Amino acid sequence: MTQVGVVGYGTIGKRVADAVVAQRDMDLVGVAKTSPNFEAEAALAKGYDLYAAVPERRERFDEAGMAVAGDLDALVDSVDVIVDATPSGIGAKNKESYEAHDTPAIYQGGEDAEVADTSFNARANFEQAEDADHVRVVSCNTTGLSRLLAPLREEYGVEKARVTLVRRGGDPGQTDRGPINDIIPDPVSLPSHHGPDVKTIFPDIAIDTLGLKVPTTLMHMHSVNVTLESETDAEAVKELFAEESRLFLVPEAAGIDGAGKLKEFALDAGRSRGDIWENCIWAESIAVRGRDLYLFQAIHQESDVVPENVDAIRAITGSASKAESIATTNETIGMGLGRAFER
Ligand code: NAD
Repeated sequence: MTQVGVVGYGTIGKRVADAVVAQRDMDLVGVAKTSPNFEAEAALAKGYDLYAAVPERRERFDEAGMAVAGDLDALVDSVDVIVDATPSGIGAKNKESYEAHDTPAIYQGGEDAEVADTSFNARANFEQAEDADHVRVVSCNTTGLSRLLAPLREEYGVEKARVTLVRRGGDPGQTDRGPINDIIPDPVSLPSHHGPDVKTIFPDIAIDTLGLKVPTTLMHMHSVNVTLESETDAEAVKELFAEESRLFLVPEAAGIDGAGKLKEFALDAGRSRGDIWENCIWAESIAVRGRDLYLFQAIHQESDVVPENVDAIRAITGSASKAESIATTNETIGMGLGRAFER
C-alpha cells in the first residue's frame, strides 16, 4: 500500500484526497491544513487525519476543538509520497521540507515547471515520471490539451495547433475574484501561458494559444484548430477519440448545449461535487477542412487533474505501469460519463 499525504486541502487537494481513498493500493495518511475552517471540518467528518501545515498555527486548531495528528514534518516523514495542492508558489517553498525528508512529491500546475524533474500527463508521458522524485501535474487546461493532442499526434501527426481558451473567471468559492462583469483578453498579447505549458509535455509541438477570461465559475471552453500532418475526416476523428478513456464525446442527442448543462448532467449522474474528470468534446463540433481539424471542448477546472494526480502517485512510486494505473484510476473513481449514452 502506498502511503499518501496531501498538503493543501482546497479545491484540488480535497478532491485528490477523496480519489486516493478510493484506490485499493493507496492509504491516505492525512491532510495538512493551515486553518481550522469549514474544509478542515469536512476532512474530520470524513475521518481524515488533520496535520498542521504551519506549526505556529497549530493552537488555532486546538482552540477550535479540532484534533491534530501532527505537524507538516510528521506527515511528510510518515508517507511514501506527498501530493502538494497548495496555492501557486507555496509548493516550491514546501519542496525544501520534502527533500529534507527524502519524500517524493507531486506538485500542481500553478508551480513553475522548474519545481519538478518532469511535468506530467498520464496519457502523454507517464513513463517520464517513473524515475523522478518531483513531478508536476500540469494545469487543468494543459491537461485537457495534452489528452487531446496525444492521440492526434500518434495517429496523424500535428503540424500546428491553435487554441483560444475561454477561461472561467474563478472557482465557485473564490469570492475574491468577483463580483465581475467583463470579457478580458488575458493576456492581451500572444501567447497565453498555456502554449508554452503544453510544450513541457510535448517539447517539439508547434502551438499558439490565446486566452480570454469571462464571468463564469462553471468550466473553461477551448476553441481548437489543429492542422494535422495527414488527411482524415470527422468520422475517423470521432472514432479515434471514442477510444480515449478520458475524452467524453458529447452526443448531439443529449441536448447539452453548454457548460451549464454539462454540470447539470454530472450532478444528475451522481458525480460528487458535480465533478467532470473528462474532456467534454461536442461531437457535432468536430469538423475537418483539408488537414484542419476544428472542435470545441469544455474542461472542468476543479477536477480534470484529479485522476492525473492519482496516476502520478503510481508513476513516481513505480507501483504500476501506465496502462494498469490509468485503468485502475478510471475504474475506482468511475470515469466514463459517455457510458450513460451507450445502448
Ligand atoms: P485553493 O486555494 O482552493 O486551495 C489551496 C489550499 O492550500 C487552501 O486551502 C489554502 O488554505 C491551503 N494552503 C495555503 N498555504 C498552505 C501551506 N503553506 N500549507 C498547506 N496548505 C496551504 O487552490 P487550488 O485551486 O486547489 O489550487 C492548488 C494548486 O492547483 C495550484 O497550483 C493551482 O494552480 C492548481 N490548479 C488549480 C485548478 C483550479 O482551477 N482550481 C486547476 C488545476 C490546477
